[in-house]
Amino acid sequence: MNKKAAVAGAGISGLYACYLLEKKGYAVDLFEQSDKIGGRMCSERKSGFIIDRGFHVLQTGYPTANRIFSYDSLGCKAFEPGALVIRPDPVKPKVWRFSDPFRRPLKGISSVLNLFTSPFNLIRVGLLRLKVSRISDAGVFQGSGQSTLEFLRSRGFTEPFIKRFFLPLFSGIFLESDLRTDSRMFTFVFKNMSRGDMVLPEDGISAYPKQLYSMLDNTKLKLNTSVSQKSPNEIVVDDITYSYDIVIRAHSNADDNTTRGVWTLYFSAPKSPLKENYIMLNSSISLADNLISHLAVPSDIQPSYAPTGKSLIAVTVVEDAAKKRGLTHSDEVESAVLQELKNWFPEEIRTWQTLDVQHINSALPDHNASHYDNLGNSSNGISCGDFTFHGSVEGALISALMAVEKSIEIAARR
Ligand SMILES: Cc1cc2nc3c(=O)[nH]c(=O)nc-3n(C[C@H](O)[C@H](O)[C@H](O)COP(=O)(O)OP(=O)(O)OC[C@H]3O[C@@H](n4cnc5c(N)ncnc54)[C@H](O)[C@@H]3O)c2cc1C
Repeated sequence: MNKKAAVAGAGISGLYACYLLEKKGYAVDLFEQSDKIGGRMCSERKSGFIIDRGFHVLQTGYPTANRIFSYDSLGCKAFEPGALVIRPDPVKPKVWRFSDPFRRPLKGISSVLNLFTSPFNLIRVGLLRLKVSRISDAGVFQGSGQSTLEFLRSRGFTEPFIKRFFLPLFSGIFLESDLRTDSRMFTFVFKNMSRGDMVLPEDGISAYPKQLYSMLDNTKLKLNTSVSQKSPNEIVVDDITYSYDIVIRAHSNADDNTTRGVWTLYFSAPKSPLKENYIMLNSSISLADNLISHLAVPSDIQPSYAPTGKSLIAVTVVEDAAKKRGLTHSDEVESAVLQELKNWFPEEIRTWQTLDVQHINSALPDHNASHYDNLGNSSNGISCGDFTFHGSVEGALISALMAVEKSIEIAARR
């Protein structure tokens, strides 16, 4: 007879846990409290646009994700490696291209010549790249960390370069505005950015969990079903207790950790404001009156994101940056962002229309240094999710792998 497992939560970690449990011969019941799978990797269609819940990409450098997803069959397309960097100005905004010299040597040379920063910072980027490429995936989180800001300073980057390049890029990735995130997480992201692409699937970010779900053969999904755990192998659904050989909780509880939030604003425009397929960073993000970390045009990468003749623009504002300005309501954030965008695209902005203002309250776990010190040593074999490992799709997938291995080990001892 099949062994039975229950997984609570159909985000990417829960779905991967189901897949791994099936491979070990378990029949799985997957419970999801909402009406769809995918958790935070969620997309909706609105007026012909694909609107992801928050600007969200996948790094093809992630090793675990790479083993699972077929990027080709999802029609994934990549952003250019590097970034455009803007200095906003109401009359004449200035834009620099900062291309990855290792993958785009010719454009990389023009980055050196465009006077965005001194060649010494660019050489340091190259040296950092070399250093992280030599660290193994397992080694990234070993040892002790410091804040990302301290780390970048210790690598010799100048303050202006940190503020104008690393801060807008990594505040939009870590969803905090001080680069306080542990440097081991910085190394993880930087390593994956250096060796892979930032890609978007044709049908929106929810295509990843859907692809994973399509790989399940022996899993019964129950939507709109909230589960609580009674014991290591018992769950409660609608006041009824059910027993399983294994139970895995693939969602966080309120007391697991604090979280980081983000505002994502989507606009419809008659044409893309960007001339190349990069994301655009705000070099003035450290100034007190600036909110936007970065802007991207998903429809430049994937035309399916917008109807014919339109472009979809995604603007990222870290929640704590908005809070520092006392902005907590959608209309306040929208009006401050539109005001700021006048200094980015003084002409084009008049033709833009707001499609959506999203406030994603618990977008990422807010892990501190001691969390990273103990990464992978958790004795808790029954929960997975990015909150148990690190805040990324890769972190969520690895956490599922660890939880399944541990649960099987515990079940064998029972
Ligand atoms: C705006 C945004 C941008 C991001 N960008 C990136 C990026 O570019 N690259 C990257 O790698 N990562 C990114 N991430 C992070 C990535 O999306 C998450 O790390 C990952 O999706 C977490 O998956 P999870 O399975 O751990 O949790 P979740 O996706 O949160 O899934 C948990 C699921 O459990 C369900 N659930 C909760 N309680 C119960 C219950 N009691 N019973 C049953 N079900 C329950 C929830 O409804 C949910 O579906 C981003 C996240 C956000 C929000």
